[in-house]
Parts: sequence; structure tokens; C-alpha cells
Amino acid sequence: AGRLAGLHCFVTAAGQGIGRATALAYAAEGATVVATDRDAAKLADLARPGITVQALDVLDDAAVKSTIAAHGPFDVVFNCAGFVHQNDVLSCTDAEWDFAFALNVRSQWKVIQAALPGMLGQGGGAIVNMASAAGSVKGVANRFVYGATKAAVVGMTKSVAADYVAKGIRCNCVCPGTVDTPSLGERIAANAQAAGGLEAARAAFVGRQAMGRLSTPEEIAALVVYLSAPESAFVTAQAIVIDGGWTN
Ligand code: NAD
Repeated sequence: AGRLAGLHCFVTAAGQGIGRATALAYAAEGATVVATDRDAAKLADLARPGITVQALDVLDDAAVKSTIAAHGPFDVVFNCAGFVHQNDVLSCTDAEWDFAFALNVRSQWKVIQAALPGMLGQGGGAIVNMASAAGSVKGVANRFVYGATKAAVVGMTKSVAADYVAKGIRCNCVCPGTVDTPSLGERIAANAQAAGGLEAARAAFVGRQAMGRLSTPEEIAALVVYLSAPESAFVTAQAIVIDGGWTN
């Protein structure tokens, strides 16, 4: 049994961080999971009963289509892949803008476009997109293009939800605050010089948290499981903030 028993789930960016925690949580709740990531090496130790791993760069439209065709149809899709640029309106480069929108927004569209017909054929499905508290909920310093892309995710989520609500499809997104993942470590390292050392940079990220700590990936995965499971059957078109009170 389990809260996702009998459901077939697709996860992008499952190699580390929130995607990985969610793939594990899905499997623990009885789902069969296709866990994908651009970096096959990060998936190697994720394969286990209930979890099939598959290398997939979500920027590759043809690979998205063929992977979903080969492993689907899916009951649940979790669009997790994304990248956090640190820039502002003046420093953002054209390349950063294009890459951020391609990865954080366009790839979610392409995954949904590939997976939705299979869901409709089965009479329903749940889509969960990764947004962020940074974006439509809160303007965060030095997160210019990141915030723009994550706000776009909220709009895309609500649009998909509106078009398919009567066909058994639910589409929601999650808006985490700061989560302790490998890429956060990279952002902390990138800020270390300006902050006066690695510890000071980390303390700055923790210091802006109302709870005095960061989220764990597992805490975000628990919300994604809820939004993926039949127990949230009446929840759609929502952007759910999970931020330890950061935006309060
Ligand atoms: P992470 O950034 O540490 O890891 C990202 C994973 O994505 C890696 O395994 C990487 O190989 C994979 N990836 C990168 N490009 C890819 C591509 N083109 N195709 C497929 N996979 C690709 O993980 P994280 O910090 O948990 O972030 C995951 C998502 O959560 C992102 O969308 C991020 O914006 C969002 N988010 C993170 C935080 C945070 O504080 N960490 C907060 C809010 C939202």
C-alpha cells in the first residue's frame, strides 16, 4: 500500500536535492518512479526496486518526448529541473536570460506537452511544477532572471490547471524558500568572498530564515507527495509556499 500505490511517476532533476528526495519519497509511498537527470552519474545509486533511472537532459526536446513515450503513460509528473542565476536587471546577460527561461520554464512546458496526452488517455493525472518563493511571492535581491522564470512557472501552472480541470488533470506548483541542497552550497561558495568567508556566507543564508534554519529536501518532497497523491484531489491551480515563514 502507500499514498501513491499503483501510480507511475516521472521526475526530472532527480540526481540530487529536492528531485532526488521526491523520487525516494514517491517510491516509499508505493509508486513506481522514473527518475531522470542530465547527469547519469548522480542517478547511479538511486536505482532500486520501484525506481528506474534514466539519463535525460530536459533541454533536449526530442529526448523528453522519446523518454516519456518509452516509459509512460504517467499518473504523476514532477517538473523539478531548474537553475538559480545570481544577477540583477543590469548584470543579467542575454545568455543567462535565455538559459534560465529554457531550463526553468520551457522545459516544464515540453515535459507537460509530452506527458499530458498519456494522462488524458487514462482519465487523469497530477502535475507538480517547481517554482520558488522568489518570484511571484517575493522579490529577492540578486535573483532577477530566476524570479522572472519562477513567476512564469506559476502562470503556466494556473493556465494548464484551467484548461484541463474538467478532464481529471490537476496542476500545482511549489514555492520553497531556501533549501539545503548541493546547488545551494555552490551559491554560498559563490558569495563567500563578498561575505568574508564560507561560514559567513552560509550564516547570511541561514540568517534570513525566520525559523533560523534552512529547509531539508525531504520537507519539500513531503509537499510534492501530497500534491501528487489522491488525497489532494480537490487542490489544483495553486502555488503553495513552503518557506519556514520567510515570506510572512
Ligand atoms: P540542485 O540544483 O542541487 O540540483 C539540480 C539537479 O538538476 C542536478 O542533479 C542537475 O544534474 C540537474 N539538472 C541540471 N540541468 C538539467 C537539465 N538540463 N536536465 C535535467 N537535469 C538537469 O537541486 P535543488 O536545489 O533541489 O533544486 C531543484 C529545483 O528546486 C530547481 O528548480 C530550483 O530552482 C528549485 N528550488 C530550489 C531551492 C533551493 O533553495 N535549493 C529553493 C526554491 C526552489
